[in-house]
Parts: sequence; structure tokens; C-alpha cells
Amino acid sequence: MIKLYKGKYIIEVNTLKLGAIEAGGTKFVCAVGNGEGEVFERMKVDTDHPDKTIPAVIEFFKTHQVDALGIASFGPVDVDKDSPTYGNITSTPKPGWKDYPFISHFEKELNIPVGFTTDVNGAALGELTYGAAKGLDGCLYITVGTGIGAGAISNHQLVQGFSHPEMGHILVRRHPEDHYEGHCPFHKDCLEGLAAGPAIEARWGKKGHLLTDHALAWEIEADYLAQALMQYILVLAPKRIIMGGGVMKQERLFPLIREKVKDLLNGYVAFPQVAEHIDDYIVPPGLGDNAGITGALILAGEAYKTVKVK
Ligand code: ADP
Ligand code: ZN
Repeated sequence: MIKLYKGKYIIEVNTLKLGAIEAGGTKFVCAVGNGEGEVFERMKVDTDHPDKTIPAVIEFFKTHQVDALGIASFGPVDVDKDSPTYGNITSTPKPGWKDYPFISHFEKELNIPVGFTTDVNGAALGELTYGAAKGLDGCLYITVGTGIGAGAISNHQLVQGFSHPEMGHILVRRHPEDHYEGHCPFHKDCLEGLAAGPAIEARWGKKGHLLTDHALAWEIEADYLAQALMQYILVLAPKRIIMGGGVMKQERLFPLIREKVKDLLNGYVAFPQVAEHIDDYIVPPGLGDNAGITGALILAGEAYKTVKVK
């Protein structure tokens, strides 16, 4: 809603009806909510060919008549606002999704402002605004699930260059007791290739949730994730690190990772966050599984403000 206040137009996003999509590789979560991150309606649809998935999503938002839409999508995606392909998925092996023009398709179909970023950037935004990093000016959100990805916010800005970061594909030193070759189709034994859910399953022949009592499995997992966090800390000095995704449901990973991060840094980053308060520094999501969808609602509010103020 746009109101005249002291001679200026201001936008109250809290009174808007906002739409949000968390577009994942296996499912799309769609929601209707407000600018305070409250969700009123929710709908899930499998990520099939876009010709099948997208009409159901569009129908949902047409029915609810939202004022703006935010999309936090699986990637890689084009997040460069100056690029002619801004808002598109770029290269993906998923049938039908390569070069899929998210923003332009939804703008055309719904005729409303559309905000767009990656799934992990969305989750970082949600956690920073209403979750485990509330009150800070930045954080890093990493998901450890079917893949590994991370989004970072610094000084209230999403960190990005020519593209969004791809922090899941960094290289890690191999654990001496790990002989699994790695499953990343590009790099084999990068972080994602060694530590995402499918790597755990391939290494041990069982899905992660069935390995709860397997000490070595989690020792190796924590080793790779701690190495990754060390590098993120050294490069980005994030104000807080939030770890989500299916694999992090394995809560025993948190104390293992914290201890290993401290050991790896070996006193080099002597700031209190790491040295004294690591339990409050490396944490699970405050919003649980709602981080991404909450971030997408925030993006919708931002998109509305940007377009309507122009
Ligand atoms: P996605 O990454 O596809 O959005 P998730 O974040 O739920 O989905 O991650 C799915 C991965 O997490 C799978 O590889 C699954 O085996 C693993 N996973 C789910 N629950 C657990 C658990 N409790 N312990 C360990 N691994 C789990
Ligand atoms: Zn890789």
C-alpha cells in the first residue's frame, strides 16, 4: 500500500499481500504472506518439467492475487541486474530448466514486480531479518543437502560479483580415512562431491538418517564442513554462520564442526565470536525449514518498493 506521509509517498510492505517461491531441485514451495515474514497460505509442487510445474505455480498466485513475488531459486542463476538474461536459470542438467526465464515469465503472467535471487541467498536474507542472525548486518547461510551451497550478506548487501558465489565447490583436504572418490560431475572430490547428502549415501551405502550411530561417518563429514567454514571465515569474516539443509538435521554435527573449526584456525582468528562464543557463532537456522520462503517474501517486498517508487 502506498500512503502519503508528511508530503512523501511511503510504501507499507506489511500491508501488502506478497507471494514467495522457494524453487528447489525436487520441489517448489509457494507461499502467500506479508512483509513481516508471516505466511498465510502454502502450496508444494514437484519440480518436474517447467511446462508442468510452472502453470500450477502461476495458478496459485493468480488465485491469491499477490501484489509482488519473490523467488529464491536453485541455480546456477543469472543475478546480474544489468545482464540481458537477468532472472534466468543458466546451465542445469534438469530437463527443460536450462535458460528458463524465471523473472520475465512470471512478470508477464502475473503483471507484478518480481524479486529474484538464489535459494541460499534467500535463506540468508530470511535468517538475517527474522531468524538466527536478526539484529546483525550480515551472516552466511550454508545448506548441506542434495547439494552444498552458501549465500553471504555483508553490510546488508548480498555478496556477489560477476555472478553469485559457488561456495559448495571449493576444494578441501581429504580425510585420511576417506577413500570415496567424490560425486561432483565437474570436480569429483570438491566439498559438494565429498560432503553433500548423496556423497554420504554413496560412501556408506545408506542414507544419512540411517547412519546416526556411525561415528566415523560424522567425523569425516564434520572434517570437510569445518574446513569449508574455516575458508569462509578467512575470506568473508561473516558475522554469524547458519547451517541448514537435510544433512544438518544430524545435530551431533554442530559440536563436532565447532571444535574442528577452532582446531583448524588454531588461534589465528582470535575474535571472541570464534575464540569464546563459537556455540553462538555456528548455529542452526532460527526459522527452521522456513528460512528460504521467508527470504523470498522479503524479496517480494523489496521488488514492490523498487518498482513502485521508480
Ligand atoms: P534439498 O537439498 O534437495 O533441498 P534437503 O536439504 O532435505 O533437500 O537435503 C536432502 C539430503 O539430506 C538427502 O541426501 C538426505 O539423505 C539428507 N538427509 C535428510 N535428513 C537427514 C538426516 N536426518 N540425517 C542425515 N542426512 C539427512
Ligand atoms: Zn564441484
